Amino acid sequence: MKTIGQAVDELLTRRARERDAIQKRIARDGGTRRFVEKRLPRLSDVIAPDVTEEQLAAHSRWELREASQRMRDCAHCPSSGGACDGASGYFAEGTFPVWTDEHVLGRADCPKWAAYAERRRLKRAGVPEGFMEATFESYVARSDVEAEAKELCRQYASGFETSDPGTLMITGPTGLGKTHLAVATARECRTPRLMFAYLPALVDMLREYTDEAFLRATTCDLLVLDDLGAERESAFGQEKLEHLVNVRWSERRPMIITKNRSLNAMTKTLGEPLIRRLVSATRIAVELDGDYHERAAGV
Ligand SMILES: [Zn+2]
Repeated sequence: MKTIGQAVDELLTRRARERDAIQKRIARDGGTRRFVEKRLPRLSDVIAPDVTEEQLAAHSRWELREASQRMRDCAHCPSSGGACDGASGYFAEGTFPVWTDEHVLGRADCPKWAAYAERRRLKRAGVPEGFMEATFESYVARSDVEAEAKELCRQYASGFETSDPGTLMITGPTGLGKTHLAVATARECRTPRLMFAYLPALVDMLREYTDEAFLRATTCDLLVLDDLGAERESAFGQEKLEHLVNVRWSERRPMIITKNRSLNAMTKTLGEPLIRRLVSATRIAVELDGDYHERAAGV
């Protein structure tokens, strides 16, 4: 068995050997700056010229290498699916290295990644590809009716943080940008648990994956129901929809609903209890009618 003295000696010897190795490496590479310039040119470009050897050496080579790798990955952002996506030892998701005024390696948000993350959020929510870029800015109102509709949707989004934002109901004929406004509004609500459902597809989904889909639709923070009334008329669909709306309504969970026809006109197919529930849930009603202009496809 080793004595304490022997253990201490061994430790000191090991330390000395490590120090030697570092010195040798510095002698070979000519210090951290040379190392960075020679091996990590991309990182070298962002380090200010007046940074001292000591300031540079405060970062381990592993850290510097990782920073360089991150910069290389981020150069491909977001084409490879958000290259700086994911966390690594030193960098949180969506951040890349910067050399700060205090002369240390710091982190900044990748502006390209933010757009990627937003796209990913909408994709996971089920927003169709053609509406990924639907924003209030890209909704160009060509009539007073459309301008007012956009304003009301904005109002809904800005009041979304309140405890009971209620339901936003957007009604109008096909082609006036109901779905565009619904997606733009949902985007501005900034909730992480968003679900977008084209109603006929949702009814089919509820038929096949009953519990899972139903749970998701009832518990998400914001549910967009696109094209109410377009689903095939069926007792099953009608019953599921009524159940879904009732649960969300009783738990004060908001919805954005788009539809072609007035609720009154749908009483026969959807049933009076559901229509009454939808009316009481509605906080803001947007009517898109008036002059009919065909919008570009997907808008
Ligand atoms: Zn990036």
